[in-house]
Amino acid sequence: FPTLTVDVARLLELIGTGKESLSFMKKRIRHLAQQWLRAARRLEEKLAGRQRDQKHILVHIGFLTEESGDVFSPRVLKGGPLGEMVQWADILAALFILGHSLRVTVSLKELQSHLGVPPGRGNCPLTSPLPFDLIYTDYHGLQQMKQHMGLSFKKYRCRVRVIDTFGTEPAYNHEEYATLRGYRTNWGYWNLQPAQFMTMFPHTPDNSFMGFVSEELNQTERQLIKANKVSSMAVVYGKEASIWKVRGKEKFLSILNKYMEIHGTVYYETQRPPEVPAFVKNHGLLPQHEFQQLLRKAKLFIGFGFPYEGPAPLEAIANGCVFLQARFSPPHSSLNHEFFRGKPTSREVSSQHPYAEDFIGKPHVWTVDYNNSEEFEAAIKTIMRTQVDPYLPYEYTSEGMLERIHAYIQHQTKSPAMQSSPSPLALSPNATHLVWSPSAGRAPQTWPPVASLQVWVSEPQHTCTETCRQHGLVCEPTFFSFLNKEEVFLQLSIACDSTEYEMNHLYPAVAESVHECYLQKEPLLFSCAGSNTKYRRLCPCRDFRRGQVALCRDCL
Ligand code: UDP
Repeated sequence: FPTLTVDVARLLELIGTGKESLSFMKKRIRHLAQQWLRAARRLEEKLAGRQRDQKHILVHIGFLTEESGDVFSPRVLKGGPLGEMVQWADILAALFILGHSLRVTVSLKELQSHLGVPPGRGNCPLTSPLPFDLIYTDYHGLQQMKQHMGLSFKKYRCRVRVIDTFGTEPAYNHEEYATLRGYRTNWGYWNLQPAQFMTMFPHTPDNSFMGFVSEELNQTERQLIKANKVSSMAVVYGKEASIWKVRGKEKFLSILNKYMEIHGTVYYETQRPPEVPAFVKNHGLLPQHEFQQLLRKAKLFIGFGFPYEGPAPLEAIANGCVFLQARFSPPHSSLNHEFFRGKPTSREVSSQHPYAEDFIGKPHVWTVDYNNSEEFEAAIKTIMRTQVDPYLPYEYTSEGMLERIHAYIQHQTKSPAMQSSPSPLALSPNATHLVWSPSAGRAPQTWPPVASLQVWVSEPQHTCTETCRQHGLVCEPTFFSFLNKEEVFLQLSIACDSTEYEMNHLYPAVAESVHECYLQKEPLLFSCAGSNTKYRRLCPCRDFRRGQVALCRDCL
């Protein structure tokens, strides 16, 4: 690993200057530099002696280019979405600290100057003409690269990783299928391997979970925070005044105001934003470091329902706050909510921050019905009485993020189709599910290793994501190819009167009432997401490391 001072200066230089967004990212990297370095040392010890390739990596942040309208930079100082900037800063830091050689571009001109790509031969050739092994970009950047690279874009698209906050499910990614089945969106259908899309939270396991980091505390800071918590202080989640327009807020705000002093960090220009009630102590948008200080004092961080799934609740919990949020019933999705409409996912969002709800939960996270005043009031009272330690899931520490990206870069290079051919599975003793059996021959070379595989059959209307989770496992799409076989139905004692190969993101599956079995014809459509009342799906599940859901136990 590189030595710190010199190298962080080099990273900052690589990022360049001239935009508020770049200054925000550089400030963050500088502030977290020591944390990154400590994490790198710990990871180095863990990986002792293991061979690591150094990659040439291009990071092209498309949404910051003038050509895509750069709507964010001017909004950085006005409370615009900083979540993306936080994530890009952390990606840059992680790639750099892992010792890879980086180029960073935020304009089309720079991109063009780096992509001198005469057409190579074969599909996804491993030897360049393209001077980069990997390209991290976003949907805007993808579009720009396609325009600039012409035909060679198709050849090299296997090297692209798309940072995609909310994720792209396989049904939306496959051009022909999306067109035939009504999954077309403005984001396009790029026919990438779904794992090439990298999300901010572990949404669908079809995509890779990239994440970001939160500031970590030492023992002294933890003690100090606990000693200085003000049990009657609440901070509201959200920097944009529009969140204060939420319907029905008067009811729950008046209850909250009975017990707690309410603070906000809402951006305003010359006078306080009219939407924010007078009893709220509004600090205006704070520099990130000062925002953390505010969280250290506050007992409660409260969400009004928007923004969805950003970094701030994790930071609040890491600073010892309890996060209180509304349950969405029915869940929000692209079918019923403006924000998700047209996004390439059918995911149903059960609260403002499902990760906080599902992966963290009580005592740190309370998800309640805000329309039920009694439930809301009872939650506030209990939260004020409860002592809660600062908590940060390992996957959001610097070490966790380095570990994950290290694993992706070293192992995730082959598409499933390029991995060696699957061997048979064997029944596990209790016969409810299948595992790969060592007696079935030599384990095929896959990543994740096939020894972590268990095959479960979903209930009708259940996704594979849910099915695996019910068994304490996580869906692993890489393994679909192992169970997409007629004999697997037999091994699971599923009676098939007929078996067809078809293109459908829910297959392999069985329509139990009519004994019809279906196999998947198009490997790009293997999908953990998706369900239908008609089908029970065959689901490939695997184990995972505690606090690091992206990696199986033997995945490092
Ligand atoms: N943040 C900040 N100043 C503030 C409030 C928030 O710098 O006054 C930072 C916060 O630390 C977090 C980032 O803004 O890392 C993004 O916050 P959020 O979760 O609201 O996500 P967004 O909607 O901006 O993507």
